[in-house]
Amino acid sequence: MYITLKDVNKIYPNGFHAVHNFNLEIEKGEFVVFVGPSGCGKSTTLRMIAGLENISGGEFLINGVRANEKSPREREVAMVFQSYALYPQMTVFDNIAFGLTLQGVDEDVIEQRVQATAGILGLTEYLDRLPRELSGGQRQRVAIGRALIRKAGIFLMDEPLSNLDAKQRVTMRGEIAQIHRETGATTIYVTHDQTEAMTLADRIVVMKDGYIQQTGTPYELYFNPANVFVAGFIGEPPMNFCRSRVTDGCVTFGDQQLDLKGVRPDMGTLEGKDVVFGFRPEAIILAEQSGAVGVDCHVELTEMLGDNTNVYIISGEQQAILKTDSHYTPETDTDMRFYIPGESIYLFDGETENVIRPPEAARS
Ligand code: ATP
Repeated sequence: MYITLKDVNKIYPNGFHAVHNFNLEIEKGEFVVFVGPSGCGKSTTLRMIAGLENISGGEFLINGVRANEKSPREREVAMVFQSYALYPQMTVFDNIAFGLTLQGVDEDVIEQRVQATAGILGLTEYLDRLPRELSGGQRQRVAIGRALIRKAGIFLMDEPLSNLDAKQRVTMRGEIAQIHRETGATTIYVTHDQTEAMTLADRIVVMKDGYIQQTGTPYELYFNPANVFVAGFIGEPPMNFCRSRVTDGCVTFGDQQLDLKGVRPDMGTLEGKDVVFGFRPEAIILAEQSGAVGVDCHVELTEMLGDNTNVYIISGEQQAILKTDSHYTPETDTDMRFYIPGESIYLFDGETENVIRPPEAARS
């Protein structure tokens, strides 16, 4: 294994325990994304890997060798920060070359490596410009170039797209994926944006309050969330949830009882239990189908987004969002019926909020 974190903890000098028993193994060439809400400890973990923050407990290994005490340079990490931190008086060429110049690398080699890096990043024609003569996206590419040129073993990125506007973020996201394909660099990327995590990652680590909630591929996290937090964090709009007590194999959704006996063989074992019932906005269908549970509701509001529509519904006090094809946008202030296929129904333990998997094994 290339990178190993074993029971890594961070306790800041003021006593705040920011990261608890963080365990992760990363293979060479993997693109791993740490995602979670603000303050969950993702930057702290990245900074411990970078060597910018000391590790309070546990072990950090590179290639099986303990690296806790190694300096950032010895760890061979390159980091791209939230702010580009470019030198304003230096050209793009000199900004990209800076690390190599400091190391006293031969000028010919620098020229060749800057040209190669600029080629990958599409910066060849901007090498003589100053940072202020570039767009935000181009500046971010220079910052990435500065890290990339060092050919470090581990590439660390902390919210590298947060200074860009929405459109630039999407473009840069694609470019980062492309750079990763071309360089094959082992990358750890921090973001609070689940879309960035889903689109870039080979594997995602979801964090909350300093604890890992789940580690898995984007597919695993979306279809097999471990708990209510992950289910609600991954996916946009988020999964709909409804708290209920299982009665006669039914869960309550607003003012109706949904009979799950036909779709979940484990309803008998859940009788009397408090659960969280969940389904994704996009996992519903409008036509009746065997193995699907019908739900009546009232349409409060619709948002036509082009290719699909967000439909805000209510049943009793229970609100939810449905995502429909925009050709089938229901009228506001009308009643409608929709169906949730059995395999799209999630149940979580009402107390622990951990998923209760149907007995016939996990969906895959
Ligand atoms: P964000 O997306 O806001 O950067 P994050 O998930 O990266 O959030 P961290 O920066 O890792 O979060 O911070 C985790 C927790 O540790 C936060 O509650 C933060 O207030 C706390 N923290 C960070 N740095 C220090 C410090 N030097 N001393 C004490 N507590 C700190």
